[in-house]
Parts: sequence; structure tokens; C-alpha cells
Amino acid sequence: MKIQAKKRFGQNFLKDETILEKIIQSMPKNDNVIVEIGPGLGDLTKRLITKKDVIAFEIDKDLCNILKKDFEKAIKEKKLILKCGDVQDHWKNSLVDRPYDLIANLPYYVATNIVLNALRDKNCKNILVMLQKEVAQKFSAESKEKDFSSLSVLAQTAGVVKKLFDIKPEAFEPAPKVMSSILLINKKKSLDDKNFENFLKIAFSAPRKTLLKNLSSKYSKDNLKKVFEQLNILPNIRPHQATTSIYHQLYEILEKRKVDGRKETTKL
Ligand code: SAM
Repeated sequence: MKIQAKKRFGQNFLKDETILEKIIQSMPKNDNVIVEIGPGLGDLTKRLITKKDVIAFEIDKDLCNILKKDFEKAIKEKKLILKCGDVQDHWKNSLVDRPYDLIANLPYYVATNIVLNALRDKNCKNILVMLQKEVAQKFSAESKEKDFSSLSVLAQTAGVVKKLFDIKPEAFEPAPKVMSSILLINKKKSLDDKNFENFLKIAFSAPRKTLLKNLSSKYSKDNLKKVFEQLNILPNIRPHQATTSIYHQLYEILEKRKVDGRKETTKL
């Protein structure tokens, strides 16, 4: 039966056997269960269940019914647990109640949010996902590269990040308009400080302006200058030129120790 891909669910089915095999070869080696978000027609799922148990979340009811039939045996043998519905509704604190690796060809429209949720989820240990190439670069860029962003800082805070390889649109049906990439994050810890995430939003609010200018929307310029000097940061650097470690040090001084650079409490 020919399935009509639904744009609103970001359905681009990966059909290239070589790429599917490369994803399997890139899987972290451990005993964690696999969580797949968006199994679609099950091309990746059928390979994943030959390696480990899988818990899969699929939003599309039509696909869910097809998957239930195609994977009847695996579901009976508990190699596959299929959950129908929006994965975001299942994500309270942890998506599942045991250590897991997220392995998925993600729908582009929610990919960034899903990776951020996985970085925050303490049961998620590794992330191996397909994303739009630009988004993968934002997560994997190093300090001083033009794509270095708040997402890079968050990914580096949680673990070791690598963009593994790129995938051309022709590998999918239907072909998306953009290139895709495979991103791997081996987590060492989970993100646990929303305030730090908010601090980064301010720091990167205008990427072409200086970091000092961006931060001065919340903290007094005089205090920022002092803190920059203390940390040996040039006053004219742009947000992408600082390192993850510098962001943690700035946050520690400005927010945690509350060196009172906050505008509300400082006389200018
Ligand atoms: N894994 C399949 C493959 O590689 O061919 C399909 C990948 S396709 C890019 C994305 C899949 O995610 C689709 O099956 C889509 O229905 C599903 N999806 C989209 N939004 C979702 C959500 N919020 N929760 C769960 N699944 C979702």
C-alpha cells in the first residue's frame, strides 16, 4: 500500500539502505534500551530491534496501525513497545523509566526541542539523531566557529558532541528541501538549570553584537566590564567567540554569586 507522507508531521522516510546501515554502525555500545521517536514506516526500527529492545513513539495514527501489523511479532515478544501519540505529551520528567539512548530520524519541525528535552532527561544517556544540517551544526559547532550558539554550549555542557556525516535529500521519500546530518551526543550529565539556559538566550540574543552589549540588557555595563576583566575576556568579543567554560564562569559570577551586576539593583 502506498502511503501519502504527511507534511505537518515532518514525514520524510529514509530509504537509503547504506545510510540506515551507517546509523546502526554508529550506535553507542551499551545495554541501554533504545527510544525511537517517529518510527514512520519502520525502516530504521526493523534494524534497531535486531540489536536491542526499542520503545517507539509515533504521532500518526495511520502509521501506528501499519506498524502494529508489521511488527506484530516483535511487539508480542516485547522487543518493541509502540506508543501512539505525540512524544511531547509523554515527556514529563523522563520519557521512559530506565536508561535509554535516543536513536531517531527526527521530524524537523520539533527536532531542536526534542534534542533539548533529551539533554535535560536524566535517563537519556546518548543521542544519535538525524536533523536538518544547519541545526546539527548549531549543536556541534566549536567556539569561534560562526555556528557556535547557545545550543552548542548546552550540548557541550551535557557531553561530547560530534556531527558524524551529512545526508543528501535523495536518500528520503519524499526528498526534503534541505541537507540532513547525523548528530551524536555522548552525555556525561543532564542539563538541570533552566536559568543557565535563559542566561544563554540573553548572551546570544543578537549574535552579531558584542557579548557585552547583549548581556547589558540584564546587567549593568560597568559591572560587566569588571567581570570581563577579571576573567580576561576582551570587551569586544562576539557571543560565538567565547567558550563553554567562559559562559559557565560568567553565569557563576553574575547569577549564582550575584556579584551585583543586575540592572535593577545597581545604581548607574
Ligand atoms: N523513522 C522514519 C524514517 O527514518 O524513515 C520516519 C522519520 S520522519 C522524518 C519523522 C517521523 O516522526 C514521522 O513518522 C512522523 O509521523 C513522526 N512524528 C512527527 N512528529 C511527532 C511527534 N510529535 N511525536 C512522535 N512522532 C512524531
